[in-house]
Amino acid sequence: QIREWGAADAARHIRVPGPQDNKYSHGVLGVVTGSEKYPGAAVLGVEAAHRTGIGMVRFLGEKAPAGLALARRPETVTVSGAVDAWIVGSGMESTPGLNPELPALAHAALGLQPVVVDAGGLGFLGHVSAPAIITPHEGELERLVPRNGSTREEWVASAADQLGVVVVLKGHETLVATPEEATGGRFLVKVTSPTAWLATAGTGDVLAGIIAAVVATHSVKRVPSLHELAELAATGVFLHGKAAELAGEDGPFPALDVAESVGRAVAWVLSEG
Ligand code: AMP
Ligand code: MG
Repeated sequence: QIREWGAADAARHIRVPGPQDNKYSHGVLGVVTGSEKYPGAAVLGVEAAHRTGIGMVRFLGEKAPAGLALARRPETVTVSGAVDAWIVGSGMESTPGLNPELPALAHAALGLQPVVVDAGGLGFLGHVSAPAIITPHEGELERLVPRNGSTREEWVASAADQLGVVVVLKGHETLVATPEEATGGRFLVKVTSPTAWLATAGTGDVLAGIIAAVVATHSVKRVPSLHELAELAATGVFLHGKAAELAGEDGPFPALDVAESVGRAVAWVLSEG
């Protein structure tokens, strides 16, 4: 029986800043998301990342999404510089739309820092040499690794083995798996969503932003193992579900409300977990 990753697990993986911390020591996230076609994806991921309490968010994607992200969150930095982790691909079109000449994209793919690869970035996975977490829904995973009648658990595990990355297979039950050869053997957990009202456009962009921000806070001057990245990804999925539950207290909610509730979800996990 596959283990449920719960509030207490999540609480152990949230890095709370101390008196000695500053914006650089508490994680800098590099963001390459959104496009002319889907600029809103960048706003959702950037808002979610800021709300985790990360030290700094650098948006290094295209102009149109950059303008919107900055208008929504003036705290966002849009000049390049050192980052501790990356998020690539939400709201970007698959390979043809991804311009590998974008210096930030090349940096994200070829650097040492962990990368969260979402949506359109998945077509770019072959170029990624950094330790990666991918966040496909079932349709996206089918295109990378066909399911062939296996159970969801078998599928996520074999995808992790074949791709050599942490796989976050999204759905009402989200599964998180490392490759079998990762330090400490296969890690495989599930996170059950508290609400199916999450099944709306944009909530996946919020999830990717949360996971990447949690990863960045744990990647300052070090590169986490795949096993640790999977624990951080599962923690992000838990926060996403909790944020949705809080956003849904008064009824259905669009994705930006989930992003806005991430700070309250962090506080809830730290006090209840
Ligand atoms: P995406 O498919 O990229 O837009 O991501 C959708 C998000 O909503 C993921 O975090 C899924 O886990 C979540 N989600 C989708 N369908 C459901 C559902 N029926 N119940 C709960 N969460 C869901
Ligand atoms: Mg998506």
